Amino acid sequence: MLRSMEFKKDLYIDGQWVSGDGYLDIYNPSTGEVITQVATAGDKECEAAVAAAHRAFPGWAKTAPRVRAEILRKAFELVVAEADHLATLISMENGKVFSDAKGEVLYAAEFFRWFSEEAVRTPGDFRKSPSGDKRILVTHQPIGVSLLITPWNFPAAMATRKIGPALAAGCTMIVKPAGETPLTALALMDILERAGVPKGVVNLVLPSNTGPMISKMLHDPRVRNLSFTGSTVVGRLLIKESADCIIRTSMELGGNAPFVVLDDADIDAAVQGAMLAKMRNGGAACTAANRFYIAASVADEFTTKFTAAMSALKMADGLSEGAQLGASVSIKERNKIAELVDSAVQGGGTLHTGGKIPDGAGAFYPPTVISVGSDNLILEHEVFGPVAPIVTFTSDEEAIALANSSEYGLISYVYSRDLARAIRTAEAIESGMVAINKGVISDPAAPFGGVKQSGLGREGGFDGIHEFLETKYIGVEI
Ligand code: NAD
Repeated sequence: MLRSMEFKKDLYIDGQWVSGDGYLDIYNPSTGEVITQVATAGDKECEAAVAAAHRAFPGWAKTAPRVRAEILRKAFELVVAEADHLATLISMENGKVFSDAKGEVLYAAEFFRWFSEEAVRTPGDFRKSPSGDKRILVTHQPIGVSLLITPWNFPAAMATRKIGPALAAGCTMIVKPAGETPLTALALMDILERAGVPKGVVNLVLPSNTGPMISKMLHDPRVRNLSFTGSTVVGRLLIKESADCIIRTSMELGGNAPFVVLDDADIDAAVQGAMLAKMRNGGAACTAANRFYIAASVADEFTTKFTAAMSALKMADGLSEGAQLGASVSIKERNKIAELVDSAVQGGGTLHTGGKIPDGAGAFYPPTVISVGSDNLILEHEVFGPVAPIVTFTSDEEAIALANSSEYGLISYVYSRDLARAIRTAEAIESGMVAINKGVISDPAAPFGGVKQSGLGREGGFDGIHEFLETKYIGVEI
């Protein structure tokens, strides 16, 4: 497997690769070794990025949608052609296994393809007013300079899910990747440059002092839009920061997904779906199944089969042959997972497998299955690791109440052989997305997003581009 690679290590501002006010070490969490150093941005570079995006905006907004579409299409083709390289980068800086990383890259590429197709299809409206005295013309215009902030768990897909619609809409942007995983985002800048994105349209900064520098950008009247994916805590803070200049925000925040198995479910299919919903990305996904609610009459069968599948997974360096579960992104994140499991055991939980930090280097945590009571504190937290707490229930109403007993509402999973029953349950669960008899439903063509404290707005689908467009009404005297 590739170990010595070319990295883009400088900031990307106004079509130039530039150094900043210092350097940040980027670690490989599988080994604890430093991979390389990446330039950090000071106030000067953050200001230069905003100025470049602001200068480039009028020209990019005027570009023919077809031209924007073709640049996005070219970017899609380049990401697919370079998928192995990007997947290796992701695995190195994030720790996830190569197969997960490759899956992410292909998913990420699809956002460029989908929005290349959406760029030429922005709808408008032309109507007679009810009084008949005018015509109502509704059109959409790009919002302007957008700040795109992404997390470490999907370094490619969370970036393209924002960059794709922003480019399609005609916005210019400043990308701020997570400090743990900037190498993938930098590689995407290189791809976008080669795809023909004009200078200044896409810029990347990695601020040396994130909070204050992002706050300064959100108080700059040239910045008009914030698209954030990350934790609810930081999202809440950024909504407050955005209030002063009334900046439009879209927020893809934390999840704590319930995985509900009704008593008539196909248990083998539910176990297979649970493995995907829990273990894609090693459990470090906002969509990860986090609370397993299983009908009491099938709970033993489900727990036995699921525990067997979980404990059979091979945990190893994400780039090693046959690895199925890689490292968490850092020792700090891994230790958070361990603390949650330890407190769940102290709270009366029964471990079926896992639950112990392995010896050796690297931020590893084993697949863990634990039966808990419905009041166990682990159920209140987004675990972000390979941990599955199981709770039993005795009626559909109880399952729905348990599923809704969370401040989060991103995605839920329901297993039942009775489609009407599954749909009734899906409609009663408070979440922006529901998967029925399926472990993964993320799709660039579908609207992704949450309710309650999981966020505001939608990415992907037909809605995604509207996070980057203003609606304008023009009234015409007739
Ligand atoms: P995080 O909130 O710690 O960081 C996200 C981004 O915000 C990073 O780039 C980080 O550097 C930046 N950031 C941190 N503090 C900031 C501040 N004060 N001002 C401005 N920016 C700041 O989240 P994370 O640990 O990187 O990612 C994990 C979280 O992301 C989980 O809660 C997960 O559920 C969520 N997530 C949500 C979705 C979704 O679509 N809903 C997708 C992926 C991840």
